[in-house]
Amino acid sequence: MSLFSRRKTVVVDSDILVIGGGMAGCGATYESRYWGRDLKIVCVEKANIERSGAVAQGLYAINCYMGMQWDENQPEDHVRYARNDLMGLVREDLGYDIARHVDSTVHKFEEWGLPIMRDPETGRYQREGKWQIMIHGESYKPIVAEAARKAATEVYNRIMVTHLLMDKSKANRVAGAVGFNVRTGDFYVFRAKAVIVCAGGASHIFKPRAVGEGMGRTWYAPWSSASAYALPILAGAKMTQMENRIVLTRFKDGYGPVGAYFLHLKTYTENGYGEEYESKWYEHTKQLVGDYIDRHPVPTCLRNHAFLEEVKAGRGPIRMVTKEAFQDPHKETVGWENFLGMTIGQAVVWASQNIDPKLINPELTTSEPYVMGSHATCSGAWASGPADYAPSEYQWGYNRMMTVDGLFGAGDTIGGTAHKFSSGSYTEGRIAAKAAVNYVNDMGNERPQVSEDDYQGLEKVIFQPLENYRVGRNEIVAGTVSPSYMMPLNGLQRLEKIMDEYVGGISTFYMTNDKLLDRGLELLGMLKEDLNQLGAEDLHQLQRAWELHHRVLASECVTQHTLFRQETRWPGYYYRGDFPKLDDTNWHCFTLSQYDQTSGEWTLEKAPVYHIVD
Ligand SMILES: Cc1cc2nc3c(=O)[nH]c(=O)nc-3n(C[C@H](O)[C@H](O)[C@H](O)COP(=O)(O)OP(=O)(O)OC[C@H]3O[C@@H](n4cnc5c(N)ncnc54)[C@H](O)[C@@H]3O)c2cc1C
Repeated sequence: MSLFSRRKTVVVDSDILVIGGGMAGCGATYESRYWGRDLKIVCVEKANIERSGAVAQGLYAINCYMGMQWDENQPEDHVRYARNDLMGLVREDLGYDIARHVDSTVHKFEEWGLPIMRDPETGRYQREGKWQIMIHGESYKPIVAEAARKAATEVYNRIMVTHLLMDKSKANRVAGAVGFNVRTGDFYVFRAKAVIVCAGGASHIFKPRAVGEGMGRTWYAPWSSASAYALPILAGAKMTQMENRIVLTRFKDGYGPVGAYFLHLKTYTENGYGEEYESKWYEHTKQLVGDYIDRHPVPTCLRNHAFLEEVKAGRGPIRMVTKEAFQDPHKETVGWENFLGMTIGQAVVWASQNIDPKLINPELTTSEPYVMGSHATCSGAWASGPADYAPSEYQWGYNRMMTVDGLFGAGDTIGGTAHKFSSGSYTEGRIAAKAAVNYVNDMGNERPQVSEDDYQGLEKVIFQPLENYRVGRNEIVAGTVSPSYMMPLNGLQRLEKIMDEYVGGISTFYMTNDKLLDRGLELLGMLKEDLNQLGAEDLHQLQRAWELHHRVLASECVTQHTLFRQETRWPGYYYRGDFPKLDDTNWHCFTLSQYDQTSGEWTLEKAPVYHIVD
């Protein structure tokens, strides 16, 4: 009761509102100030931007750097690379736009104090692979956050944004957002002329391999809760490629990264019997995907596919051969440091399981699927492209504006642009911000109108789980199970089970079909109804409740897209048992969806893929 009586409503006005202060959000905040010297720029973050987002604990490599100053790669090369890895389907205009600007972002990071390793012989940045450069990245996020803090008019930490606000004077125009402070419980109303959503990707929509008390041990950050998708979806923005969930091959149990091992240490994999296995699956894979298997590098999903088939054939576990490389003391040091910079948990797992990679080849595993827009995958919002490069069909407004006026996005939020990673996400934040400043300037003295009724109605909805708990707990005489409410964790586990069993998770070896997807949608519909009965005993649980809302809506979107695309485009990420082959004749296209909040209905359509780079 006291939580309700103490609750304040805080109204914040801004020109540009950045939601999420991760890599893209920090880039958007920084660049908004550069172009909008006199504008009011507000960044709102559910954690603390100092250490928030997927980069929170640091990284060991920046995975997207062209090296144009040394003529190492050109933006067109990166477009070809991403297109190849995504089996032909990327927004080349958006990818090119990031690639042509990403080097300048990395140079800024170095100027701000990020230690980037140098090749002692050439003096250039130390390459881990063709696109990756190696960093001492423990303080990567604090360095990036400092620039954003200095650029912002205000940064609001510890505020979870739950809904966007729409303009009451003009249909399909955004007007701000609402949320609550996860520490004080205050209700926040942000009114803004332009909104840039940078709220990261989605973990925990599929059942993870580690459950129970280990459930936080996922590859993707457990706090990435699909807000980047749910917020635009609810506002009616079109989404793209949401079926393109990603599955990662990583070191078992700790999900430690394998990139530096493959690329820098030149380690390789073998099956449980010490045999090379990838070539064995060549003919089989060729029958499914045609000459995509002959591309270089072999697309990420197809490498997963060979791994999965070998395990299904009973020849697991798959191991990384580290014993050879680790005899070299330099490589051994690099191998361990790789974890210390970003996934220290993997080193702890090896220590606790008596694995010394110099003596034992460690096991690999494939992760549960995640939804992201910035890795070897490209789920997210459908965005307008750059004026000088995008085909006219991809241009309906300002660069990186979604199909809702004034609503921009960057990083994991924006679909169709794989392989942007940390530096590319930051760069896309900058690109979106520049466009958002133009949008605000073009608006002149006009200002979107926020309806008081709208946000007061949302306030009631947002805090309802606290009320459900306060009333419902009186019915409990012992234990924690209530006849009147469901705790967020129970809802989350139900969601993960549905997605796992019906939409192609680990328990079905990523396999699904139309019948399973239809049933999955029915069960998701029932879960959605039950979300009205969520109970939250405190503000932490209230946050969990709203994270669950966002995850469920994003999951529904993933399921709809998976049903719509009648082919298996990315074997190794997921399989349609009823359409087991890649079908370029009918499905060399993007999938788009749009949600109608009033009817609860989804509309799906195809959009053309334009190959701009030869
Ligand atoms: C395990 C792992 C390893 C990686 N390794 C590398 C690597 O080696 N090199 C590399 O370059 N890239 C790497 N990446 C990719 C990189 O981390 C991402 O591309 C990048 O962080 C995406 O930026 P983003 O801003 O979209 O999301 P994030 O950086 O995750 O930021 C999202 C932000 O939004 C906030 N937020 C979420 N929901 C809300 C809400 N409702 N209200 C308010 N705030 C909210 C979050 O707290 C977070 O701060 C890795 C990613 C992962 C997960």
